[in-house]
Amino acid sequence: MVAPGLIILIILAVVMGITASYILYLARNSDSSLKTFTVYLILAMMNGMLIGPAVYFLGILPFTIVDTVVISAGVMVLELAYPLISLANNLMDDQKTMKVNLPVVVFLTLFNEFLMSLIFNSISTSQYVNQIYGTNVLKMFSELVSSYWFVFPMSLEMGLTAILTIRKEKGFFFVFILLQSLVMFFTPDAISTSIWTEISVYLGVSVMTILLVYVFESLFRKDFVYQGFSRYILEILGVYGLMMAGVMLFQYNSVEIVISISIIAEMIIYLHAIIRPDYLNRGKKVYWLASQKWSTAFLVLVYVAEVGMGATMDFQFYGTHAFINSMGLASFGGNFLNIVGQFLFNSVTFVGLLSLSTFFYLMMGIEMGTLVLFKFLNSKELENRIRLVLLMVAFAVYSVLIPSFILPTTVQHYTFLGWSMGIGSAGGLAPALILPMILTYAVSGILSLLFGARQLCSVFCTAPLMYQGTFYNSMKKFNKTGKLASSLSRAGEKSKLYRMSSLTVYASLGAASVISFLYHYHYIKPITVYGEDPLQFIYIILFGIVWYLVFITMPYLGNYGCINTGYCHWGNFNRFVGKYGLFKLKVKDPNQCVTCETKACNNACPVGNTGHPGNFIKDGFYKESRCVGIGDCAEACPYDNIFFYDVRNYIGEKLTLKEKKVNSNRK
Ligand code: SF4
Ligand code: SF4
Repeated sequence: MVAPGLIILIILAVVMGITASYILYLARNSDSSLKTFTVYLILAMMNGMLIGPAVYFLGILPFTIVDTVVISAGVMVLELAYPLISLANNLMDDQKTMKVNLPVVVFLTLFNEFLMSLIFNSISTSQYVNQIYGTNVLKMFSELVSSYWFVFPMSLEMGLTAILTIRKEKGFFFVFILLQSLVMFFTPDAISTSIWTEISVYLGVSVMTILLVYVFESLFRKDFVYQGFSRYILEILGVYGLMMAGVMLFQYNSVEIVISISIIAEMIIYLHAIIRPDYLNRGKKVYWLASQKWSTAFLVLVYVAEVGMGATMDFQFYGTHAFINSMGLASFGGNFLNIVGQFLFNSVTFVGLLSLSTFFYLMMGIEMGTLVLFKFLNSKELENRIRLVLLMVAFAVYSVLIPSFILPTTVQHYTFLGWSMGIGSAGGLAPALILPMILTYAVSGILSLLFGARQLCSVFCTAPLMYQGTFYNSMKKFNKTGKLASSLSRAGEKSKLYRMSSLTVYASLGAASVISFLYHYHYIKPITVYGEDPLQFIYIILFGIVWYLVFITMPYLGNYGCINTGYCHWGNFNRFVGKYGLFKLKVKDPNQCVTCETKACNNACPVGNTGHPGNFIKDGFYKESRCVGIGDCAEACPYDNIFFYDVRNYIGEKLTLKEKKVNSNRK
């Protein structure tokens, strides 16, 4: 289509978007029958104006321009009949006010946009719709809804309506909806060119990441959200999960239907919320730190959306089919049981490897890293600030840069670098891998002896970045309020669950190690899980699936569930060694603890450790294998009394002692 024609269509689409926003503004603020009637009038006129040309451009029947005008006029009259009658009734009875019928306004708003997309797609391609799609109605629906003639005006409408209606309320939801309209704009199949798909996948996920960080930090700073908005957040997160699945499907085989359904679903949820003046910021308050159900639903939906966000970027960067082929999924075949086994293996491997993938980590690193940065900015203890910086750097370099970009194919040959979670994390017990794996235990063990297991559980592991940001850290409250969470965080290694899960993991690792060793050394034929080394499969299950299940059920299992449930063999090993090492918490003045009114340190630990004051008063120090040096106790102490003691202090003491001896010998 020549540029002038296209410019006219773009101007019309923008006018359409602005008009639709104004209608929504009117509908939301309609407090009289006349205003409500005006809403219907404009909607019906727009619908009438569009339906005639749409029937024409469908190209199914040989309609003339006159026919389309007649159809348009007829539809307009029909759609205005009911509002006119009820307006007349209401004007006669001034007790009554004609109310906005939500489903009608939502339907007509979306239908108008759909008709516009149909007409403009036909005009811009100079083809009748049935010439493009034939009788494939599903394809027509999905491509017209995902087209830029639908998506861009919708994104404009969403943003503009928010500005028109709720900007004055400056609520959390105002920014939420502005970011939402940007996410809508970056719909990957809106423009069918590979460059747009590339740009919009990365920018769309970036905006979603900013939106999630904004939600996390806003929830952290506000201890409640209104019921309407709490529901809205969950609904939009659900839609984002669906949308990401749709984008993955589109990247895999260009099928757009799931994206289109998610767009319609998002618009229905949005329009329902924005038209009702009292929905987002009125009504019952949901104190999310007191609602296990809401918080868990929130974490589950966030996780599902995030796995999809990471996957779409992995697919874009590595190539969809290349990335999926690299996962080693089993091909389906054989009897029913076999197929069930292949399905379970593929599901665990697919989700597990996506949760361990480069772009999932990259996205999580930015998202959770920002929350850790906020915690860093709120921290007063220098030691904590240094550790939080180390933690962010370790995630960026040790967990993402080195394994994904610097040593993507050889990292398993490097001690410590390649084995981030101990045995199984970089392969089976192949001859070339055994030494770097064993040396990793030695290096990590020595670090835990010198600095405590916090070197791992508060710096090198990826978990601390997820747990220690402002929002997630504040969920330590559930350690006290959740029934299971409080018993786990109190009992620690003594809890039945801890013992059962740690023993199960050790037994499976033991069996898998024997099998892996024997077949790598050709003592037996290869025994694998659909081609996957049993040790590596256990790693995928534990850190690609179980870790996230424990994380997203934090309101029930408590914060730092990876420590309190005992399944993390790597953490258990380092904490076991750390028990015999130098690390402990010490106080500058135990007497301060005697007189301390708050004993604030006692309730600050995200892992659930308690008993600090008693130990400080009795011994002047606190040593607990589950203490991984997060330092919230030190932050909580009003007298700045707590400090971390490790090899640095030990050497310092030795040197001071030596110096004193030298000085006293000189005298
Ligand atoms: S227990 Fe395991 S998963 Fe948790 S922080 Fe420590 S090493 Fe990481
Ligand atoms: S809050 Fe500080 S002073 Fe009080 S008991 Fe704890 S360490 Fe001691």
